[in-house]
Amino acid sequence: MKTVVICGGGASGMMAALSAAEKKENKVLLLERQARVGRKLLATGNGRCNLTNTGASIEHYHGADPAFASFALKAYPPEEMLTFFRSLGLVCIETAGGRVYPLSDTAGSVLDVLRLALDAAGVQIHTGECVKQIQQRKRGFLVKTEEANYPADVLIIACGGRAGGKLGGVNDGYELLSALGHHRTALVPALVPIWTEPEIPRSLKGVRASATVELYRDKKQIAESTGEVQFVERGVSGPAIFDLSRSAVQGGELIMDFLSCLSVREVANLLAQRRTLSPEKENSIVFAGLLHSRLGLAVVKAAGFKPSGKIGDLSDEHLKKIAYTAKRLSLRITGTDTFENAQVTAGGMDVREFHAKTMESKLMPGVFACGEVLDIDGDCGGFNLHWAWASGRLAGRAGK
Ligand SMILES: Cc1cc2nc3c(=O)[nH]c(=O)nc-3n(C[C@H](O)[C@H](O)[C@H](O)COP(=O)(O)OP(=O)(O)OC[C@H]3O[C@@H](n4cnc5c(N)ncnc54)[C@H](O)[C@@H]3O)c2cc1C
Repeated sequence: MKTVVICGGGASGMMAALSAAEKKENKVLLLERQARVGRKLLATGNGRCNLTNTGASIEHYHGADPAFASFALKAYPPEEMLTFFRSLGLVCIETAGGRVYPLSDTAGSVLDVLRLALDAAGVQIHTGECVKQIQQRKRGFLVKTEEANYPADVLIIACGGRAGGKLGGVNDGYELLSALGHHRTALVPALVPIWTEPEIPRSLKGVRASATVELYRDKKQIAESTGEVQFVERGVSGPAIFDLSRSAVQGGELIMDFLSCLSVREVANLLAQRRTLSPEKENSIVFAGLLHSRLGLAVVKAAGFKPSGKIGDLSDEHLKKIAYTAKRLSLRITGTDTFENAQVTAGGMDVREFHAKTMESKLMPGVFACGEVLDIDGDCGGFNLHWAWASGRLAGRAGK
């Protein structure tokens, strides 16, 4: 009989526990520092839990060596994970962009089936127990919490990352693994709003628009993303922005194209049509029928034209300049939101020190790590939970 101790009862830890418990002789103990398991899971996807993405493949993952995730993603692709969840009784639906949610539209359903399965598998769960220290013994390990010491043959560190402090994001996993001789890369808040010079976002607060957004630094394109942009008091948010945020910490400039399906010439032609239809109207409505009215107004101003001027007075050159601005609206980056509000941590434990096929430490056999504590993070859209499930399943299965 082996004793498998899992530190952290989040997405990856619960999956690792279930997988380790598939071997009936194993005694599986799950230690969770918060009062309940899966607290962060309940908050995912705005309470709906975007648990995977049918397009989960390596291009959606980041880190110093994202290829580390390849094996786990191939071993447990989305359809395999969904079959597994279906076997636990969870019914899911796929929505736009391959995002998968529970049919119930509530994250509670995902946690419910996991908890019922953990119970049925005989996994012991100790909540309110924070792992403080791990000692290596002649055979196995001693896992110390404030309450008790637990001997372990196999140890799985699934403590998550620093993101989402209010939901339990802490540094514990990094510290426990560092104390065992592991190293970590720099941590950066990812999937967060990006702060910019405030004038334009403030005037557009609450407006949502589809855009292709490019991040430039020193005149070089660093990253690009397409999707919804939401304007907020201090900058921009929304899925398209989240995916750029891991690269925004060092500053730069966002260039937003709100009419990416049209060329500048096509946009200018549409504005010329508006000039013919409404020559006596104000410039502020020149984008009527094309863009959100407040966004249209902001573009006109950013292009250097008075909103109160007459559309009929705009020349073809003027219209071209306005059209160009709608496709190249620029915002200087001033920072990003903090770890507290981040959905994921970019950076983490150096994956070169772990085996990609098992998640076992190369430095300390018998120790495994999975989920966000490792230096792998995914795009917005279910990719991070997919990594948590896939890596947790690998670690738990290897641990058995
Ligand atoms: C608001 C929000 C929304 C999100 N939405 C989505 C989404 O819709 N789709 C998606 O794919 N991803 C989403 N994510 C990201 C996703 O939730 C995480 O990447 C994922 O939960 C990571 O799983 P994990 O098991 O590694 O860590 P976690 O789920 O964070 O679990 C780690 C657990 O370990 C516990 N722990 C930490 N230290 C100790 C210790 N010393 N002793 C015992 N226990 C410890 C913690 O309390 C926690 O319960 C979201 C994140 C946030 C914050």
